[in-house]
Amino acid sequence: MGGFSPIKDLMYVLLAPHCCACGRQLIAGEHDICYDCLKKVRPTGQADVEGNDLELRLKQLIACESAAAYMFFRKGDVSQHIVHDIKYYGNERFGRSMGRVIGRELRESGRFEGVDVVVPVPLHFVKFLQRGYNQSFILGKGVAEELGKKVETGVLYRKYYTMAQARKGHGERHKNIEGSFGARHGERLKGKHVLLFDDVITTGATVVACAEALKGIEGVKVSVASLAYAGG
Ligand SMILES: [Zn+2]
Repeated sequence: MGGFSPIKDLMYVLLAPHCCACGRQLIAGEHDICYDCLKKVRPTGQADVEGNDLELRLKQLIACESAAAYMFFRKGDVSQHIVHDIKYYGNERFGRSMGRVIGRELRESGRFEGVDVVVPVPLHFVKFLQRGYNQSFILGKGVAEELGKKVETGVLYRKYYTMAQARKGHGERHKNIEGSFGARHGERLKGKHVLLFDDVITTGATVVACAEALKGIEGVKVSVASLAYAGG
């Protein structure tokens, strides 16, 4: 039969994969994001740089072995579309493959060799139920795969259902998040070098609060990595 079929055409348009950033239909070989948008990603290129911007910032606040973010984050550009596609649309495949890209970079830098386990920044239980997934877990899983390590989600937890962070200033943000994470079953991380993983790091307040919560565990060491860094 073939020929004109409005329903079939509509199905094709709706089901065909589109670029998460510009919305254009993807061509063969493209996944989740088109080549043009991919070229606009601004990698920090700092995984192998000791004393990089993020690392220096965190070292002023916590005991941190190494830190690195994969790309710079800016509102409205391709980085925001990538983060949103994983965070709000739950694009697990994309998150996993971005995680692997990050993990590969960390591995090749040689600065994260001592890491034993990846700990994603947890969502509050209620938010996790609402969303159905944790974007930092999805990404962190890809990172862990590439490092040949496990993901540990049973220790660090979020105590409070915190208000949206976006509209608050830096000072307020720190105050709001301070003490909002806890640790249980600490023995699981005893003596381990933990890679804390977040999707986006802005002031660093969240990962700092996470590191504070893990501080009581004997012999624990902390490194930090993220998909995006908004502080640069
Ligand atoms: Zn695109």
